[in-house]
Amino acid sequence: MGLEKIIKPHILELEPYQPGKPIEELERELGIEGCIKLASNESAIGPSPKAMAAVRDAIEGVHRYPDGASFALRERLSGQLDVEPAQLVFGAGADEILELLAKVLLGPGDEAVYAWPSFAMYPIVVQGMGATSIRVPLTGDLTHDLSAMAAAVTERTRLIFICNPNNPTGTSVGAEAFDRFVESLPDTVVLAIDEAYFEFVRRPDFPDSLGWVRDRPGTIALRTFSKIFGLAGLRIGFGVADLELASYLQRARHPFNVNRLAEVAALAGLEDFEHVERARATNSEGVDYLRRELDVIGIETWPTDANFLLANAGAETAERLLREGIIVRPLNSFGMPDYVRISVGLPEENERLVKALRRLREGSL
Ligand SMILES: *Cc1c(COP(=O)(O)O)cnc(C)c1O
Repeated sequence: MGLEKIIKPHILELEPYQPGKPIEELERELGIEGCIKLASNESAIGPSPKAMAAVRDAIEGVHRYPDGASFALRERLSGQLDVEPAQLVFGAGADEILELLAKVLLGPGDEAVYAWPSFAMYPIVVQGMGATSIRVPLTGDLTHDLSAMAAAVTERTRLIFICNPNNPTGTSVGAEAFDRFVESLPDTVVLAIDEAYFEFVRRPDFPDSLGWVRDRPGTIALRTFSKIFGLAGLRIGFGVADLELASYLQRARHPFNVNRLAEVAALAGLEDFEHVERARATNSEGVDYLRRELDVIGIETWPTDANFLLANAGAETAERLLREGIIVRPLNSFGMPDYVRISVGLPEENERLVKALRRLREGSL
């Protein structure tokens, strides 16, 4: 029909998000089994057994709409975070909170500032509203250039994303630099602090985002159940904002955006402290192992506060690893063709990756 004449120009120009290749697809292509995926920063140890049991129990109720207010989860989480229940906004993944922010704040002529390379959903939600992305390159050590970001704010800026720790680099910014940055911002912009990997952070001086949510109107911290809680397939995340910003996001949200199974799984997962601790410990050991072993092979990696790490493994590493049944994330779309992003796996998965990388280096792959 020639729909392109009536489709909005900013949608025509949208470059779709490139997800990591699913294991099933690679196994079909190679005609083998036992492939491993270290590409989407999913939980290495999987979901909490308590969350799985809660999903099983809830399955008989799926003919009912979910609780649109997520009452039980809201009460529990607000208690854990020491915020008011009305400060929480739930979404089908933190991705939906990003989209709600764009929907509420951005239109043609408006600007959103974020670092680059950073999370690939930022350009999509910004352009999705016909607004303009202002990308501020990372510094030489691949961290946020906070002073350049502050300097990029204009009277057209409505929204700033800070991805901390940053995806795809794993690097983070500390409290001192972050606090100075926030203090320099005008009060006319919304600050979104994307903390999808918060629970994995190891640096002791990590910024207190919830402190800023309390002290600076127009601030939101984003968290998710997809990463350390291992519930990526159920789609649930949330934002913690000041009451006013939260109320606007609530207005823009669909009434049943979070499904029933995700709500009960998140609630049970929140209470499974032992599982979260195990995920954290497994990740810490995996990060240290991978950085040490890759260093021995001669592959440079970057410090990480997340459950993945950036490695300068050379061009076409991701493609070659695919042939070995190992999926990692190529960073060609970020203009970093020599780099890959590796999600930390279980010890045996990490070992398999290291062996394959070593053989690749030796030229025997
Ligand atoms: C994974 C991720 C998210 C959100 O994931 P959801 O599955 O939508 O909750 C948000 N930001 C960053 C930086 C991420 O890596």
